[in-house]
Amino acid sequence: MVHAAPTFSRAQYGESEDKIREALLARASEMSGQDLRLPESVFLQRWRYAMPAHPPEGSPALSFDRPAALILAGESFAGGKIEGAWLSGRAAGSLSSSA
Ligand SMILES: Cc1cc2nc3c(=O)[nH]c(=O)nc-3n(C[C@H](O)[C@H](O)[C@H](O)COP(=O)(O)OP(=O)(O)OC[C@H]3O[C@@H](n4cnc5c(N)ncnc54)[C@H](O)[C@@H]3O)c2cc1C
Repeated sequence: MVHAAPTFSRAQYGESEDKIREALLARASEMSGQDLRLPESVFLQRWRYAMPAHPPEGSPALSFDRPAALILAGESFAGGKIEGAWLSGRAAGSLSSSA
């Protein structure tokens, strides 16, 4: 699997699938020292919303008492990846057990 960095993805989002595939496979070839430009099959997934644009600062989960008890948690509170989701879930668990 080849993942592009956010800057590449933003710049190339409107390009044709062929052009994006070609650029990614050429770079993967360069980085690995193997010629990966002609794989047997290839699938491209454009993923526009992978990173939170304005992540909340401070706590990895938020708790409100009013108008009703509410805890907000998820990846966007702590980094936009599975680690962030886990940390946020843990923080939400502590908030709910201390409430
Ligand atoms: C294709 C793909 C590949 C990924 N690869 C990676 C990777 O390689 N490495 C990595 O670190 N991260 C990866 N991620 C990101 C990772 O999956 C997320 O960071 C993580 O799942 C976020 O967890 P979360 O609990 O915040 O949200 P989610 O996992 O999205 O959980 C939200 C939950 O809320 C439920 N829900 C939504 N609305 C309602 C509602 N109204 N009522 C009740 N339930 C509701 C949903 O069904 C879902 O179960 C990938 C994500 C995708 C989609």
